[in-house]
Amino acid sequence: MSEPIRLSALGREFQRGETAVAALRGLDLTIEPGEFIALVGPSGSGKSTLLNLLGGLDRPSAGELWLNGLALHDADAAVRTRHRKERVGFIFQSFNLLPRLTALENVAVPLTLAGVPKAEREARARAMLERVGLGHRLDHYPAELSGGEQQRAAVSRALIHHPHLILADEPTGNLDSVTGEAIMRLLRDLNREQGITLIVVTHDPDVAAYADRVVRLRDGQIAGIETQSAKNGRSYPVAPINQPHKPAGKLTFADIVQTAARNLGRRPVRNVLTAGGVLIGIITLVAMVSFGVGAQKEVQRNFETIGLENLFVSPAFAETDGFDPFAPPKPETPITPALIAQIEQLDDVVDVTPTINMPFGLDLSLTLAGESVPVRIKGGGGTPFRFGPPGTQDMLAGQDISPGGSGVILSAGLSDRMLTDGQSYDYLVGQEVILTALLPRGESADFLTTIVGVQNGFSSRALDVGLPERAAIKGWWFNDANFLETEGYDSIVVRAADLSAVTAVTAELEDLNLEVQSLEAILDVANQVLALLQALLGSVGGLALLVAALGVANTMMMAIYERTREIGVLKALGASAREIRWLFTVEAGMIGVVGGVFGLVLGTLLGKLMDWIGHRYLINQGVTGVGPLSVVPWWLALGAVLFAAFIGILAGLYPAARAAKLDPVTALRHE
Ligand code: ADP
Ligand code: MG
Repeated sequence: MSEPIRLSALGREFQRGETAVAALRGLDLTIEPGEFIALVGPSGSGKSTLLNLLGGLDRPSAGELWLNGLALHDADAAVRTRHRKERVGFIFQSFNLLPRLTALENVAVPLTLAGVPKAEREARARAMLERVGLGHRLDHYPAELSGGEQQRAAVSRALIHHPHLILADEPTGNLDSVTGEAIMRLLRDLNREQGITLIVVTHDPDVAAYADRVVRLRDGQIAGIETQSAKNGRSYPVAPINQPHKPAGKLTFADIVQTAARNLGRRPVRNVLTAGGVLIGIITLVAMVSFGVGAQKEVQRNFETIGLENLFVSPAFAETDGFDPFAPPKPETPITPALIAQIEQLDDVVDVTPTINMPFGLDLSLTLAGESVPVRIKGGGGTPFRFGPPGTQDMLAGQDISPGGSGVILSAGLSDRMLTDGQSYDYLVGQEVILTALLPRGESADFLTTIVGVQNGFSSRALDVGLPERAAIKGWWFNDANFLETEGYDSIVVRAADLSAVTAVTAELEDLNLEVQSLEAILDVANQVLALLQALLGSVGGLALLVAALGVANTMMMAIYERTREIGVLKALGASAREIRWLFTVEAGMIGVVGGVFGLVLGTLLGKLMDWIGHRYLINQGVTGVGPLSVVPWWLALGAVLFAAFIGILAGLYPAARAAKLDPVTALRHE
């Protein structure tokens, strides 16, 4: 510092209720660079107030304060923060070391705030501590140090960033006289060796004796100045500062995160409980939404096995005019092979599978190797669309009837009746059989066919036959070999190219005067119901999270109250309001993330457990083949953690702003 510190008509008034208290009134003083000033005076005379003004922690209400060309009386918060960070070192009566940091880390704090990399700042802090004789106490916490050791660490912290100005407020006030003297000698040596301007507030005449000049304050005014430098045998200005001064950087994000993590670690029980609030919210959210997702997937899967892009088409029937209850209903547009060929040519139609229903009242029997059993035709005759509980459609031997192909498949129950001991279902496959159709009036006809497969199912009568056999039997029944050309098929299944083509194909088919049904509409309704359910269940989790947010906010407010003094110290050491806000916001966000991650894990496990119980129940009820009911997709996992972090940050915003706004002078007075 090449220019002196100049105070002119400097005043500071405090508003206390209605009345204004003048702590300083009209100070005029010039302090030379490298000078050692002792500030003495009775309690309440304004010593600390002056020190706070010099340190840029406070602003004067009148007059001017110049520091090395800087108009501190006019400086905004950012300039005063830089002033503290780059030029000033504070030493307090009660040491004010940060309790959760080791001696080494405490000394490094000003460098951390200036964005100096960890390795460098620790090396510098170690060197500094060794110089004050604390090389053996680097990893001790303040509570493990004696008063003198704490103050030596505090002196190291005040010096670590090569300040131009050291402001010490009764540095020996809490020390016994021997230790106090050691500290004073240390300060004086630093002042002599490095030319640092030193301003020390003290009550103790022995301490004041070290100074070049003693400035006496009384009632906020200078009551006298004694020059002692002659006695101490020195003159100033002194040698310039050894190291050229570099502008300081900013607290890095990595250090913010690390500090926040440390602060969380210091109140583990409370923070775990707070995170527990978030955790419960996230557990509820994840478990509930995962069930919604699982249920939706299961419904979708069931619909997909049926084939959502399939349209079930049947002819429209004309209103019967006249009154003839015995006349069979006549289709308006019979689904003839020609019409099917036309439908196959439509845009977006992939294929068409026709079905022939068997006449009501038809008696059938099946003959294998001379043995006859009565049977009943079930199923669609080669169409892949069969409805029934899962598992009952499985083929036990052979193959299903190919679409449009011929052959019969037997139910397992029927097969059991036709087999003798020791024969397997495979024996039946490929066997020639005779289907005998019997008219109520007694006529009968035989139809030769082949067993192509055996299908799961209890029925002792059920079989399914292919389309050619169906056509032959029905032609014989109607005594009309050409009935397909006149009456047409009973229904067809039209497969559209994909789901998006379903609407267009439906319209085309309806233009042909056909009745069309699709599963899409049903799926839409099912999905709507599920989405509603999911939203409902999700909002239960959301509500829990709201409560959790209040918990986080409460914890952060408590933390600010507890750490008020610490925040004051950090500000005195050069932390900006922004950095304090960041510190608390990140801390709150971390509480959220911790709760979120554990909530995600536990919520997923809870979902799996409920899933398992659900499946047990379903199996007990005889329902098998149901897929997982609780599904946690990646977006839910990521979303849950992000949401938890968001809740934490949101809850921390107000407390963080409060912390950032804390007036450092008030904060430092806080006990
Ligand atoms: P000293 O350090 O010499 O004991 P201070 O500078 O702390 O004195 O205080 C000087 C006067 O200003 C005292 O009367 C004190 O009560 C008052 N004062 C100091 N800071 C504040 C404040 N933040 N609000 C109100 N009054 C204050
Ligand atoms: Mg004081």
